[in-house]
Amino acid sequence: MRRVTSGGGWPAIRYAWRMARQVGGVVKFYKALRSKNACKTCAVGMGGQRGGMVNEAGRFPEVCKKAMQAMAADMQPAIADDFFARHSIAQLQQLSPRELEASGRLTTPLVYQRGDAGYRPISWDDALGRVIQKLKALSPDETFWYFSGRSSNEAGFLLQLFARIYGTNNINNCSYYCHQASGVGLTSVTGSGTATLLLEDLEQADLVFLIGGNPASNHPRLMTTLKNIRRRGGQVIVINPVVETGLVNFRVPSDPLSLLLGTRIATQYVQPHIGGDLALITGVAKRIEEMGAVDLQMLDQHCQGWPQLAEHLRGVGWEEICTKSGVTKQQIDQIAKTYAAATNAVFSWTMGITHHAHGVQNVQMIAALALMRGMVGRPGAGLLPIRGHSNVQGIGSIGAVPKLKEAFFDRLQNHFGIQLPTTPGLDTLGCMESAHAGRLKLGCCLGGNLFGSNPDARFAAEALGKLETLVYLNTTLNTGHAHGLADETIILPVLARDEEPQRTTQESMFNLVRLSDGGPRRHTGPRGEVQLIAGIAADVLGSEGPVDWRSMAQTGNIRQAIGAVVPGFEKMAQIDRSREEFQIAGRTFHQPRFATPDGRARLHVCALPELKGDGDSLRLMTVRSEGQFNTVVYEDQDIYRGQDRRDVILLNPDDMQRLGLQAEQRVTVRGAAGSLQGILARAFPAIRAGNALMYFPEANVLIPRHTDPASKTPAFKGAVIQVQGAAVGS
Ligand code: SF4
Repeated sequence: MRRVTSGGGWPAIRYAWRMARQVGGVVKFYKALRSKNACKTCAVGMGGQRGGMVNEAGRFPEVCKKAMQAMAADMQPAIADDFFARHSIAQLQQLSPRELEASGRLTTPLVYQRGDAGYRPISWDDALGRVIQKLKALSPDETFWYFSGRSSNEAGFLLQLFARIYGTNNINNCSYYCHQASGVGLTSVTGSGTATLLLEDLEQADLVFLIGGNPASNHPRLMTTLKNIRRRGGQVIVINPVVETGLVNFRVPSDPLSLLLGTRIATQYVQPHIGGDLALITGVAKRIEEMGAVDLQMLDQHCQGWPQLAEHLRGVGWEEICTKSGVTKQQIDQIAKTYAAATNAVFSWTMGITHHAHGVQNVQMIAALALMRGMVGRPGAGLLPIRGHSNVQGIGSIGAVPKLKEAFFDRLQNHFGIQLPTTPGLDTLGCMESAHAGRLKLGCCLGGNLFGSNPDARFAAEALGKLETLVYLNTTLNTGHAHGLADETIILPVLARDEEPQRTTQESMFNLVRLSDGGPRRHTGPRGEVQLIAGIAADVLGSEGPVDWRSMAQTGNIRQAIGAVVPGFEKMAQIDRSREEFQIAGRTFHQPRFATPDGRARLHVCALPELKGDGDSLRLMTVRSEGQFNTVVYEDQDIYRGQDRRDVILLNPDDMQRLGLQAEQRVTVRGAAGSLQGILARAFPAIRAGNALMYFPEANVLIPRHTDPASKTPAFKGAVIQVQGAAVGS
């Protein structure tokens, strides 16, 4: 399959047209996309009270293929009545993520009991009765509660409140497998774990660092902003071991000139080794210090730790920096010169930075580099972790974490007059390991695909298999329903965001809280998450306790509680009246006064990690494709990388030759956690030699459960693999 030469453009427009016809016509599809709901897909954020396809700068039309794919998936017909009679578990396990997703909408509760051939439909009373009975029988710390960014702030707040009052802190969310390292790293620097800037600040930048990510594929509407910056004469430095098509050239469909001619995005494209970012960023910082381009006033008055960092930078040698990063001193010098000349620089990154055992240090060093030139704490500049799922940040903000921040915890106790448990709760991987050790008996997953998100897929299946009960709240089928099976697995079908009977809220990666109106249901079976959670909580805990669970079935009442207890969310209490979407207080730093106890940012000294891999092994990064959203695969092809299938390993031609591999040869790929056989080896000059690329989540079977100790984020992009052609015939 030929690789396209630019991202976006006519293929995206043709795709939109095809999608619209598939779901019942252009008008119907357009109306759905324009409804007053936050986009269901990535965290850049569109929609809300200004209507769909409107971004935070008020620009219209802003929509992308991913948003359309998610919408089309929700507009699917129901799964056929006889589907589960025709598909045993063994058969479901043979279906690809795309085939499972495309089976249709879940509309009736389902149960699978070990020993049965497959799932069978059950009534809502039966399904809820099983869950409630089990919860009453277990002790709270035998349970865990996993949240995904698909859910609303209201559903998330209510479920974590229920779980805590029920008696456990085993509460966590999908960001432990994506951006937790950003949250932990940023909190250790500024006192706040999210972006320090607004979309309008990004629009003012004259230099954007795009590190370890591919927004052309995963956050497509961010490309409009990068196009605008480039058109104003600004620069974009891309740091990525792979030359990604859309980061070189992108055709913004809503801009006629860009659509026709394309827009050059990267002004400098640097390819470090996988895991070499910390060394590279340290090298740039060292050059900035050598050049005398630091903002000493900023460092002296608004930061702590500059003397120690300066000493570290002076001490680290260029040979170490260049070897561990894989980048020459000349390239580093060029980056530093561009940075030193910039007026407003924004540092953005995605999971190429967080998916490492040193993910937190990566983030700390990026932040230090920004602070060294005073690029945090004023308008037009700042730090931007590019978050994945539409409300993943909100789910963390409203308390779906093991340990609440002190102010939040105190207010929550006072507001409801309760004593909450103070036992240490488990993070996501901690829950999987506890389940595997037989210490947990019930898991509840509010959306997402916990199995599919895990490293070491074999271990994940075993861990979930040791539970007595696993409850999934989902809209469509995913691989978790086929491979993540407890003794009893219950699927509760839920409404999509734009089908909710009441308003809900979501938070974007720029810290804007949007209000979604919901809308008419597309199917009769599914129920709203908030109503479901409130009902379960009322039955398990009774109505005579400190929380009137039945009244919490009204999302407006939950918003009152969020406004009262979640720091920064005070405006939530008025949002039903005002309809005013708001920036969360205390997170945007337009002044150099930070959320640390003394108002100063902290600079950290980070040692350079060893570069993994040697002559026999390669560094592996697992990536998403253009037609994919997290674990949900909408298309098997990846047009940006020119791939027609996903069971491939993409290697630099030099590595192919060194390993004696022919093009399209079947190989065995071995990682620390497992191996995959029959993988097609393909030459891919765009990847830096010594490194390899495979698709997530299929390659998770290779990835060990090795995490960053501070954030517990697994090193999905720091794995070492061996590729053997001889073990499998072609
Ligand atoms: S870029 Fe993200 S928020 Fe915007 S339309 Fe696409 S998926 Fe939705």
